Amino acid sequence: MAKPSNMKKTKYIFVTGGVSSSLGKGIIAASLAKLLQERGYSVTIQKLDPYINIDPGTLNPYEHGECFVTEDGAETDLDLGHYERFLNIKTSQANNVTTGKIYQSVIEKERRGEFLGKTVQVIPHITNEIKDRIKILGNTGEYDIVITEIGGTVGDIESLPYIEAVRQLKWELGASNIIVIHLTLIPYLAAAKELKTKPTQHSVKLLMESGLSPNILVCRTEYPLNDSIKEKLALFCNVQKEDVIESIDAKTIYEVPNLMLKEGLDKVVLEKLQLSTEVQPTLNEWNIFLNKLNNPKNTVEIGLIGKYVELQDAYKSIVEAFIHAGTKNDIKVIIKWIHSESFTTKNIQQKLKGLNGILVAPGFGERGIEGKISAIQYARENKIPFLGICLGMQMAVIEFARNVVGLKDAFSTEMDASTKHPVIDLMESQKEITDKGGTMRLGAWKCLLKKDSKSYQAYQTEIISERHRHRYEFNNDYLEQITDAGMIATGVNPETNLVEIIEIPSHPWFVGVQYHPEYKSTVLNPHPLFVDFVKAALKYQLNHE
Ligand code: GLN
Repeated sequence: MAKPSNMKKTKYIFVTGGVSSSLGKGIIAASLAKLLQERGYSVTIQKLDPYINIDPGTLNPYEHGECFVTEDGAETDLDLGHYERFLNIKTSQANNVTTGKIYQSVIEKERRGEFLGKTVQVIPHITNEIKDRIKILGNTGEYDIVITEIGGTVGDIESLPYIEAVRQLKWELGASNIIVIHLTLIPYLAAAKELKTKPTQHSVKLLMESGLSPNILVCRTEYPLNDSIKEKLALFCNVQKEDVIESIDAKTIYEVPNLMLKEGLDKVVLEKLQLSTEVQPTLNEWNIFLNKLNNPKNTVEIGLIGKYVELQDAYKSIVEAFIHAGTKNDIKVIIKWIHSESFTTKNIQQKLKGLNGILVAPGFGERGIEGKISAIQYARENKIPFLGICLGMQMAVIEFARNVVGLKDAFSTEMDASTKHPVIDLMESQKEITDKGGTMRLGAWKCLLKKDSKSYQAYQTEIISERHRHRYEFNNDYLEQITDAGMIATGVNPETNLVEIIEIPSHPWFVGVQYHPEYKSTVLNPHPLFVDFVKAALKYQLNHE
């Protein structure tokens, strides 16, 4: 696509949130970016998180949902997953900044003597660091537009330095190079039968007290905003009526780019940034996907077995990968959420019966482990398509070692440090490491596939690269025994021989992967393993009707 001709330097868009959390800033940012991308601009999205953890890698998934991993091994907020899935681009370390990272870097500079003689303060030292982190992406020269989402809600004490940094940047870079989009909620009061603008007015007032005026309001609402509501919002919030964008509740997040296009969000954004609106977004490929998503020909039910199933955001990328892969196959994938602690030998049949596929999820620690192993045994023995991801793959090896090879007490040293048969063991490179943050085997690593395998069939190429997040690995001391019994390592790291994929060729579709395929699935590029897993689930269903 021809690049708009009037692009000179990178422009910045900030997305703040008001009134309530969980309004979907990430989806609005990703949808806007998608439309700008369609208009020929190169866009990336960055997330600023106001918490003090260096990254979400040390956070419990119950607190924060999934930890998304980038190609370069950053453990990041799950919104980066949305950015990648919508835009079909790769993000990096620079795309997720936390207060922890900001302070760490400022304190390190202080210790090196970089501020010698000065009192180190929030303004200017912390705000300078924030501004530098924002500009890093723009300074690469790769992007026409950088969208930065500020986590949290306006008014939170912890997000104040970020708002202040944006205020300063506006003066530094000039108003036509920066705009602020404020996402708020317009609640509907059933008793009064009315949409209420007051919370938004208050939220904008709070933002203005910090020195920032929104250029555009995006208003989450259950009901359409009529003209008089838009006029009222414009009047009280210092914007034009055209700058009040309705964001009505959608059936799926994938509808949002179309909704924003209809409302003209991309157009007002470009006008404010003084950029060309000549190229119109078509969303052609996107709408082919959407059309298939809304018109499935078949339905399969896949059990997702994990220990965080109460919070489905803990498995966000897996859920989305099923949507992409299902859509590619014209299949609606229904996920049955199954808690790995809920199995007993008595109820396993009843819990898993009728499923067309079983996925055992990634995870850490001992809780729910035996449930995962029993589910794998059930999938293996009943020839139900199975995909094990990371911990799920490791448990598949343990189940096979115990029940097929006959190593009754086979285990992972993660769960039992003194097991007699450590078929899964701590990686050599991990043995000296004591710190927990950012120290796993992270990011993209190569894997060489065996040609005669389900994985090769899926990928159609011999060398793949996938993202990782683990400390333990298949113990190659047991490779021969396990291979002889019928479980094959069909993918290995070509440099270290680390087993990346195991399969059971005598089973219709049994694949365990040490890496996380879910991180690389996007709307336009569904992940091949998920695509084939869903296909196998449909085949199983048709054979068992
Ligand atoms: N706990 C396992 C390990 O560290 C698996 C990790 C995961 O599932 N991401 O190796």
